[in-house]
Amino acid sequence: MITGDLKPVAEIVPTIAEFKKVLIVGCGGCVSVCLTGGDREARQLAPELAAERHYTDHPPEFMVQTIERQCETDWLETYFQIPEGVDAVLSLACGAGVQTMAAVYDPLPVIPALNTTFLGANIKQGVFQEMCRGCGDCVLAYTGGICPVARCAKGLYNGPCGGTSNGSCEIRTDVPCAWAMIFYRLKRMERLDLMLEVRTPPDWRPGGGAGPRELKAHIKEP
Ligand code: SF4
Ligand code: SF4
Repeated sequence: MITGDLKPVAEIVPTIAEFKKVLIVGCGGCVSVCLTGGDREARQLAPELAAERHYTDHPPEFMVQTIERQCETDWLETYFQIPEGVDAVLSLACGAGVQTMAAVYDPLPVIPALNTTFLGANIKQGVFQEMCRGCGDCVLAYTGGICPVARCAKGLYNGPCGGTSNGSCEIRTDVPCAWAMIFYRLKRMERLDLMLEVRTPPDWRPGGGAGPRELKAHIKEP
């Protein structure tokens, strides 16, 4: 899932202060699961943004709506309507949702309320950890299901850097070394032979080095 962090109110206010009627739009997708951009967060944000003390003039009028997925052009076009008089949208979606809304409602300003952070997983209650960088050339089959791109601080492909200390990363000692985890996982799998295979330098083009990537859904005929 994609995770996001709500921007501080002090950062959001200057981006919306010039508008008269702002529609705050939550997203029921990933950012709802990580408790930063769903309907509840959108409704909590409205009164905070409406406080007079943030503005030299009057605050905008705020309305709140949520759609299941802001990143779906079809859903927006079919199920979502911008109320009369709204002159800006404040989106609590990830960057993909913000840009989809901006394209569908062009030229209405669509302003992000979140910082999109990473592609991660819920590792325990309330804690999400980065797991994947969307590199486009997945090597998890060779690394015991642990991603060296996202989880090694240096993104190394062929074993640890040498700074590993007692299983911790030398860059951040509070996180485990990805390559130590890979080693022990492969050992438990009795697949340490995979550690001996030298991986060629990755081809970063599938990872987005050549402009925005596209995925075309393959629909099989029944
Ligand atoms: S190797 Fe690439 S695609 Fe696979 S989990 Fe890591 S970043 Fe994601
Ligand atoms: S200590 Fe491990 S995780 Fe940290 S940079 Fe080196 S190989 Fe990567």
